[in-house]
Amino acid sequence: MTSTPSALKTSYNQLFINGRWQTGSAGQEDVISPSTEKTVGSAPVGGIADLEQALAAARTAFDRGPWADESRDTRANLMQRLFDRIIRRREEALGLMQLEMGFTRMQCDMQLELLFTQMTKFIEVARKDPLKSLKMITAPQPDGTRSFGGAVTTRDPIGVVSAITPYNSGFLLGLMKAVPAMAAGNTVVLKPSPFTPLQTMLIAELVAELDLPPGVFNIVTGGPDVGQMMSSDPRVDMVTFTGSDAVGAQVMAQASPTLKKVHLELGGKSPLIIRQDADMEKAVMAGLFGFVFQAGQGCSMTTRMLVDNRVRADFVAALVSTVGALKVGDPYDPQTFMGPLIREAARARTEDFCRRALDEGASLMLGGKRPAGLDKGFFFEPTIFDNVTNDSYLGQREVFGPIAAVIGFDSDAEAIRLANESDYGLGGAIISSDRGTAFEMALKMRTGQIQINMGPGGFHPDMPFGGYKRSGLGREWGEEGFNEYTELKSIGFPAG
Ligand code: NAD
Repeated sequence: MTSTPSALKTSYNQLFINGRWQTGSAGQEDVISPSTEKTVGSAPVGGIADLEQALAAARTAFDRGPWADESRDTRANLMQRLFDRIIRRREEALGLMQLEMGFTRMQCDMQLELLFTQMTKFIEVARKDPLKSLKMITAPQPDGTRSFGGAVTTRDPIGVVSAITPYNSGFLLGLMKAVPAMAAGNTVVLKPSPFTPLQTMLIAELVAELDLPPGVFNIVTGGPDVGQMMSSDPRVDMVTFTGSDAVGAQVMAQASPTLKKVHLELGGKSPLIIRQDADMEKAVMAGLFGFVFQAGQGCSMTTRMLVDNRVRADFVAALVSTVGALKVGDPYDPQTFMGPLIREAARARTEDFCRRALDEGASLMLGGKRPAGLDKGFFFEPTIFDNVTNDSYLGQREVFGPIAAVIGFDSDAEAIRLANESDYGLGGAIISSDRGTAFEMALKMRTGQIQINMGPGGFHPDMPFGGYKRSGLGREWGEEGFNEYTELKSIGFPAG
């Protein structure tokens, strides 16, 4: 395997809490490379004692100021300085992302591009005056006269925000949560996945250089115990969580006694609808990105491929031949398209999906096993099943591994019904040369974001992102995503 860049800082031994670097109370933990299974770094492990300090600091910083009362421009300028620093240290960010997640450089680059687009948007929104005038109205009074007056709405920060991120996008999502939260005047405690702490420690280093008031930004690493307290503690006003629906449900339950705001970005089993009139090259590219990108470890991947039965055999044959030619292996090799899964447990879960799909009568068209010659690393072949039924285990459950489930349909109405027969509703795509019909179908789909004639990844900067049903609550990205970190206030007044 190609070695990691030597200049990369892969060992951190302190957490960033209350404006200071300090040793984590639960010791140090090795960071493992998913592509070699070797130890490639070390990070401090946070515990309840560290979180206790971080929450106290974040609470004080919000309640006593000056952060929440700073001008919008002051906060936006600081976020712009952070953005400039990220751009300068892009190579380090990419290096740590590749090291911890095992994604290819192109895939990590795409995460950074998305981050840059959204940071630009958040900083633009942060500068805007949130005050909006509502229309002036007249209304009847008890004395028979009519009142005349108006109202305005404005937005306040919510308070202390706990942000919990998953392993497949710690740098991207740590910033995607912390930047709008801080820019809106909140204080933040951020926790990454224990699998990928280093990229979040780099965020801490970049934020530390800004000299923000102590307590505005804090990082505590750790596992479920820390996450549990981050979502249940009464000092927290909002928890923003990205991860699985199973843990998302726990977060919601943990948060409920204190009735704090819960913002959830969860999993999916997103449909890719391929109509009979689809451009086959586009359909295959969307299909490929829908389950091979990041080895299937992406939330809005379109792993449920609903294909018109008249073109299904052609589509499956073209997808098998294109995906079969892709290189799986060392993510540092520029020829590689797909790297490993994050850990052995993720690969074992992917294998279990294959066994169940075969038991349920699906046809294995490609993959289904560990690739030959890759003895180390949690690799699994890109796998395509045809003849999947929508209500089967594979048809309904999120794999978070490189498995495509191909399901046939005979009419647009059936395609929409199948697309909507899911507990999830995060992403989706339609490939068709009839753009009007595709648009009308998109209107009928119960999912938060749909791309027409693109796979997941063709994102517009103003498009909010988030899910219906078990895929989440609230939105991330764009102005709506920014506003999730605000309370809406209205003030009414009589005229004259
Ligand atoms: P996960 O749910 O296992 O863990 C996510 C985070 O929750 C980690 O930081 C973990 O330590 C923490 N956690 C665990 N138990 C907790 C508890 N009881 N209370 C609070 N926090 C707790 O998810 P993962 O395996 O890291 O990531 C994969 C999942 O994330 C997939 O389901 C994927 O679809 C989803 N995801 C969603 C989006 C989105 O934007 N919708 C983006 C990326 C990933």
